[in-house]
Amino acid sequence: MVFENEKIKEILEYYRKIWALNHASGLMGWDMEVYMPKEGVRERSVAQGELSMLLHQLITDDKFVEMVEKAAEQEGLNEYEQGVIRVLKREIKHAKAIPREVIGELSRVTGEATMAWREAREKNDYEKFKPYLDKIIELERKIADYLGYEEHPYDALADLFEEGYTVRDYDRFFGEIEKPLKNLLQKIMENWPKEHPLESREYDKEKLKKVNLEILKLLGYPLESRARMDVSAHPFTIGLGVGDVRITTRYEGFDFKRSLLAVVHEFGHALYELQISPEFSMSPIAHGVSSGIHESQSRFWENIIGRSKEFAENIYPLLKENLDFMAEYSPEDIYIYFNTVKPSLIRVEADEVTYNMHILLRYTLEKLMITGEINTSDLPELWNEKMEEYLGIKPKDYKDGVLQDIHWSLGSIGYFPTYSLGTVLAAQIGYHASRDIPGFQEKIRSGEYGEIREYLRDKVHRYGSMYPPKELLKKSFGEEVEPRYFLEYLEKKYLS
Ligand code: MG
Repeated sequence: MVFENEKIKEILEYYRKIWALNHASGLMGWDMEVYMPKEGVRERSVAQGELSMLLHQLITDDKFVEMVEKAAEQEGLNEYEQGVIRVLKREIKHAKAIPREVIGELSRVTGEATMAWREAREKNDYEKFKPYLDKIIELERKIADYLGYEEHPYDALADLFEEGYTVRDYDRFFGEIEKPLKNLLQKIMENWPKEHPLESREYDKEKLKKVNLEILKLLGYPLESRARMDVSAHPFTIGLGVGDVRITTRYEGFDFKRSLLAVVHEFGHALYELQISPEFSMSPIAHGVSSGIHESQSRFWENIIGRSKEFAENIYPLLKENLDFMAEYSPEDIYIYFNTVKPSLIRVEADEVTYNMHILLRYTLEKLMITGEINTSDLPELWNEKMEEYLGIKPKDYKDGVLQDIHWSLGSIGYFPTYSLGTVLAAQIGYHASRDIPGFQEKIRSGEYGEIREYLRDKVHRYGSMYPPKELLKKSFGEEVEPRYFLEYLEKKYLS
């Protein structure tokens, strides 16, 4: 039994209502992306808004808050119970700090902003989006003040996505990778393939779907009992419970790695949710702990496994059997195709060498917007300058520049750096896994993923949200994030 304390049991009983609303809201969100007819959006948004207000009421309910405070004072809580208290105290703190009108205003503004962003991007018209971004930045600055911070207003927002991470952490982190990445990129560009003919090759969507499903089976995704794969515009994963985890991918009809590697990426997120201790089910610690740790799992499968030579060899027979053009290519071709490197304008299409530069750009601009050092009129020009500085290329229009990501329209300021954190951590975890698991590469080549899954379960997944990210990393790997593993990984892969 993981939860033994009577007061904790009472809390969990109350929490079941909160869990159920989250469960419903998660399923409604999944449905909106996967099945819902376009015009259902207005009513669905109202329903989601009502649910989130109910949730807010339940979380800030005096009786519940008192229950959590009383339980927190008790001695002898075990680590699971302490995890429950930590997570709930954070939820209560966030819910109570921000006035309900501000939450409501943010939800209204981001709803409108997302629609404005879509239109602005389509018409390549930044001015259409700018007034909404102004409003969102103003609200986010208010929210940072409500939440409170010690050194930098961005700290308050960053913590929402990555508990305990601040500007100080991220500045150090990016400081350690910026110059080495620039140097590495320059050297890699000298003699590494920048493109591959498969990037423009068209494929049969039904056949690729079969390949994707076969790969998921190979990796150990429990499609027949606890998991699904569907289609959506932007691939994502949702964990509705230990018995129901869902991923999506997309089929553009050409450049099949976009679909296939998205599947491998989302599998990594899904496996995290699937391998959380089943005893945590329906409790506050029954999800992955943070955006960055979650992304480390998806990136581990996508980059460390999915972009390896051994993986290309492992899936080659499957590709050859299902995609008719594959006979023209070798496993080595697949490896190169999965790993071409070249500065490009679009973040989601970036290779693993240039990816973090896209994030550094966004992180830098977000920080400056939150302190008010720059305003949204300067943004497109600054975006272009930074692209030039970091990657040596400049977008010709807004849609390939400042308007490419949805995040700001959703009010998700502080989210971007978790992508880099996850990408870098994936290499660090890859280093440890390849030392701790005998014959790591060989296992990938022969499609034996069981031990790798167990390793991740043991080191990361089973804990759910029991420990905050930094503590989890220390406990399982003896260190916090160390960017040198990522740099060494790139150097070994691309330059030796
Ligand atoms: Mg991801």
